Amino acid sequence: MQDQSRTGLSRRGLILAAGAGVLAAPAAFAAQPGKAKPAAGHAAPALTPEAAMARLMAGNARYVAARATHPNGDAARRRLVAAGQHPFAVVLACADSRVAPELIFDQGLGDLFVVRVAGNVVDDAVLASIEYAVIHLGANLVMALGHERCGAVKATADALDGHPSPDDADTKIGALAALIAPAVRAVPAGVVDKVDAAVSLNAAHAAAEIFAGSKPLRGRVLAGSLKIVAARYDLDDGRVSPAKGREIA
Ligand SMILES: [Zn+2]
Repeated sequence: MQDQSRTGLSRRGLILAAGAGVLAAPAAFAAQPGKAKPAAGHAAPALTPEAAMARLMAGNARYVAARATHPNGDAARRRLVAAGQHPFAVVLACADSRVAPELIFDQGLGDLFVVRVAGNVVDDAVLASIEYAVIHLGANLVMALGHERCGAVKATADALDGHPSPDDADTKIGALAALIAPAVRAVPAGVVDKVDAAVSLNAAHAAAEIFAGSKPLRGRVLAGSLKIVAARYDLDDGRVSPAKGREIA
């Protein structure tokens, strides 16, 4: 079972790698300092994947530097987007109370289509939500965002190590952990901080699941009009960085 999970993750990783532009190169995460772009009104054209990524990372840079502008949060913006929404990016994030996408990317109303679930896992409801945002609302960037010290990832690692929390008996937490388990199992032997490595792998796994699980989204990625990226959030300094490349070569 463990080997099958590993193989599944690896196979999808290969598929992912084959789809050019699915996982962002580290360069795509380069901070874009400077002023925020003008607010994208509800009738504004959709941003390209690259422009959407730049806007996200510029917002994160402002947040990290304690120079957040809290854009698009006033009554005028509320009235504008009340008529229709065209978010420029989709963020699949953990439900963790410390990882609020609109705050950590310094965005406002109508900017981000946010899907949140503990462990930023992908099931049918999550995937359908992402598909809706891309196909019907015009978002051209999807970011699967894990985070440092994720409780859901740690709970999964503990359970796989034979130490599940007794408080989780008779809950659905096991079903959630089953979706995170492939990433935990994929951590190479000998890695000191297993949970931290699994956080990155879990975000990458989510991006791979989105790519593999949706034919329309996969088609857009292969055509170059959509990017699906995996990232991780640092709870300590607020920085968002690529989900791969730090712990796993
Ligand atoms: Zn979490």
